[in-house]
Amino acid sequence: MNILLYILIGVLRFLLVVKRKGNMVQRLQFRRRLSYNTKSNRRRIVRTPGGRLVYHYLKKPKRIPRCGQCKEKLRGIIPARPMERARICRRKQTVKRAYGGVLCHRCVKERIIRAFLIEEQKIVQAVLKAKQEPPKQTQKS
Ligand SMILES: [Zn+2]
Repeated sequence: MNILLYILIGVLRFLLVVKRKGNMVQRLQFRRRLSYNTKSNRRRIVRTPGGRLVYHYLKKPKRIPRCGQCKEKLRGIIPARPMERARICRRKQTVKRAYGGVLCHRCVKERIIRAFLIEEQKIVQAVLKAKQEPPKQTQKS
């Protein structure tokens, strides 16, 4: 009985060791001081030529600016991080149009038409007022 028990314990130990080795994964260390799982601490595991596993830090995703009014993505502008955008040339930051790089073409068109119509309305009102006024002026004089 005792021998059987010993053998059984031996087998179990062996299995335990095998299982541990199977589960063994290389533990990774951060390469920077920041130790919280934040947005700016995103990373990917990479195997080096020497066979080690190491963290590669990822940059935040680049964004295309959106129209200030309708929130549509603006065309003709290169996606970049804010600091990167400040560094790239002017041509890649804007479009050569009034409100280029701020509003989309549809919103600019709408604003131009609206402004034009308001001005026209003012002129019409002025004309109507001028037509109504002359009789009053004659009464006064
Ligand atoms: Zn728009």
